[in-house]
Amino acid sequence: MTHRPVARTPHDGGAVRRWIGRGWLLWAYLALNVPLVTGMILTSDAPTYAFRSAIAVLAVVALAVGVWWQRPAIPDGWWLLAAATVATAGAASVQVATLLSGSPNGSSVTWAQDLLVLSLILLIAGLTRLVRLSGGASATDTLDALLVALATFLVLYWLVIGSIRGPSGVSLLAEVVYPLGAIALFTMAVLMLLSVGVPTVAIGLLLVSVVARVATIVSLLVPAFTTGSLLGAGYTPYLGAAATILLGAAALHPSLAATRVRRERRENLVARPRVLLFVVMALAGLTALGAKVMEGEQGNNPTDVAVLLVGGSVLLLLIVTRLGVTAGIAQRSATELARRSDDLASAVREQEALQRQLRHQAMHDPLTGLPNRVVLVERLEWVLTRPGHRPLILAAIDLDRFNDVNDTYGHLVGDSILVKASHRLLDATPGQGMLARLVGDRFAVLLEDTGLDEARQWAERARQALRQPYRMGDQELFLEPRVGLLPIGPPRPAPTATQALRDADLALRAARNSGDRVAVFSPELLTAQTYFNRLSNGLRRALARDELTLDYQPVVDLATGRVVSTEALLRWNPPGAPATPSEFIPVAEQTGMIRPIGAWVLRTACRDARPWYDRYGVAVSVNVSASQLDEPGFDNLVEEVLRESGLPGSALMLEITESNLIATTSAREASARLERIRSLGVRVAIDDFGTGYSSLSYLTRLPVDVVKIDRSFVQQLDPGHGQRQWAFIRAILHLVESMGLQAVAEGVETREQAAALRELRCPCAQGFLFAKPMPADAFARTLTSPALPEARARAGPSGSASRRTATSRRAA
Ligand code: C2E
Ligand code: CA
Ligand code: CA
Repeated sequence: MTHRPVARTPHDGGAVRRWIGRGWLLWAYLALNVPLVTGMILTSDAPTYAFRSAIAVLAVVALAVGVWWQRPAIPDGWWLLAAATVATAGAASVQVATLLSGSPNGSSVTWAQDLLVLSLILLIAGLTRLVRLSGGASATDTLDALLVALATFLVLYWLVIGSIRGPSGVSLLAEVVYPLGAIALFTMAVLMLLSVGVPTVAIGLLLVSVVARVATIVSLLVPAFTTGSLLGAGYTPYLGAAATILLGAAALHPSLAATRVRRERRENLVARPRVLLFVVMALAGLTALGAKVMEGEQGNNPTDVAVLLVGGSVLLLLIVTRLGVTAGIAQRSATELARRSDDLASAVREQEALQRQLRHQAMHDPLTGLPNRVVLVERLEWVLTRPGHRPLILAAIDLDRFNDVNDTYGHLVGDSILVKASHRLLDATPGQGMLARLVGDRFAVLLEDTGLDEARQWAERARQALRQPYRMGDQELFLEPRVGLLPIGPPRPAPTATQALRDADLALRAARNSGDRVAVFSPELLTAQTYFNRLSNGLRRALARDELTLDYQPVVDLATGRVVSTEALLRWNPPGAPATPSEFIPVAEQTGMIRPIGAWVLRTACRDARPWYDRYGVAVSVNVSASQLDEPGFDNLVEEVLRESGLPGSALMLEITESNLIATTSAREASARLERIRSLGVRVAIDDFGTGYSSLSYLTRLPVDVVKIDRSFVQQLDPGHGQRQWAFIRAILHLVESMGLQAVAEGVETREQAAALRELRCPCAQGFLFAKPMPADAFARTLTSPALPEARARAGPSGSASRRTATSRRAA
């Protein structure tokens, strides 16, 4: 049933529905019936019939009200029942009229009886409709109902109909319509009971009413066969009245509103109570048959014989059909069961296959099909926990520049290189070795029962195989493999699997810097790594904890001894052991911390230098790492810092090492940033010149203003070094000067070095000889004091740092 809460409007009748819902109308109806039934009992003849008529009319009203406002499922079935009751009322009224008119004439009796027959037919029709409440009776239900009805008929026939052959007059009604009607009614009642399952109270009342109606007919019939009149037994009217009242009560019971057509259809095999009913009815029917046959021997009646023959055959037919249907159902459900178990079996098989696949996927690298890290760790754990295991080697392998290839040629090329590399590695690895792919271009090989010498040989073989060109279409790509070896075995204690992987990785990192690109793990690597971790963790907090400071080292004019500029040098003073810049700056660069730290240095140095520049024309020099130049906003940062500090661009110099400068200028964006910075008047110096590419030809191409000659050259100016070193520095200075650049000699420690530099006409110098790096306030004091002692030595007494003069500005 579809719910139509809004569409109720035509006869919503909220109040009536409420009264029905609370049971008031039912009680009122029953109460009204009390005087009517009493009247019926106390009176006779016409008044009795009048009461009976009234009871029926009341039931009609109850049905109309109940069905109209409760809107049960299949309302037309109920309307048919109401119509049947109208016919009953009509029959009673005709009787009243007949009796009141004095002489019961034949036509009015027939009238009344016709109305009763009509009522019976309407009742059967209504029930036939209502059987659909079960969603349509199933074949088994119908068969069972028929069986029960037929057996009942046979019993009735044996007990009542066949034995008493009444005088005619009523024979048609008595012998055909009433018994058949009773059987039909009974069949419907049984069928409803069978198919509706547990009924609601309303349906229960309906069923009881039907049974009462059947009983009425039977009670009418039994005496009819002896008396030939259909007046029935004394209690017959009461049974009829009860049936009528119950019907009205069913319509007014609140549960009627809840009757719904059952959705699911079910086929009953043989529920236990039904088997019982089935057996009892079959036996009763057959017994009746048998009894009749016995009687028949005494006086054969051809009708009886026909009825018995037909009834018996049909009963048997029904039983056989029922069995057939049952067997069919059993067969179908057996087939269904078999199909389901087949489905289940294949589902289980699929599930297993899927699990196998998942297990494989979980253990293997999808690209190369090699075992993955999980498998390697498992194997390692197993080998390492085996007591007294033989020496073994864990090797970590990767391909230098693989990421570049991946980025340049795309992931498809990268992937196919990895597959090829994995095949080559597999070929190079002996049978007892286990090759796994860890991540990206990182592979690992576990070589069991292998010593270090053997492992080195294997590493060389593997490297040679991996170095062969990778042919991709019409070009060949070259990659440089690296191998880190971790020997596991006495005397060192066995590591855990995770430690082993970590140590092999450390060896691999060390291999990057080793000549043959193979490195063996040593405990120092671990110490270094631990130190690295400690520094990087500490650096992360250094800025926030205010642990960073700047020292300043003066750069002097060698001719005058005046301080022309100063280099800002970063210091880190963590609470525990302090670290030198050459220790922590590489860590800061690798971890990316150099960017925020570098910004801080720039800001602090410019702020500190502002008064020095204003009063003494002293410029400031700040060291800059490559990754700072790679940062997109670096040029803006410089501009912003200059604005904030009020320092002119010409008072700032950025020191960049030679190799960083080359990397920067070859990257277009970084080079553009550097040009923008230079356009602000900021100068750029090549730091540590001579230690990197040392190619003088670079000097002509790089965007620089100052060249800082590395102290390793300056130290070669000490006595004892030959003329060739002098010649080299002279050549550099000459070149620098001829290009209009300014030279600064770094790391000047002795007077001899300073003298030599003056002789070579090097304009500026920096070094411990003049001053060590010092805090800002100390540096500020050196500016106010007379010229630095060593710088002044040759420059004469007038060489103190003076107020801004043209000579302190950049020469070029
Ligand atoms: P650098 O740029 O070459 O700085 C000069 C280094 O030489 C400083 O070492 C300084 O103390 C040292 N030095 C100066 N005169 C002499 C001398 O006569 N003899 C000797 N033996 N050494 C001298 P420091 O301060 O330890 O800095 C080391 C390196 O750390 C610097 O080398 C520079 O590359 C880097 N660095 C320092 N501060 C910063 C910074 O703020 N940012 C960046 N990116 N790097 C920095
Ligand atoms: Ca420097
Ligand atoms: Ca330097």
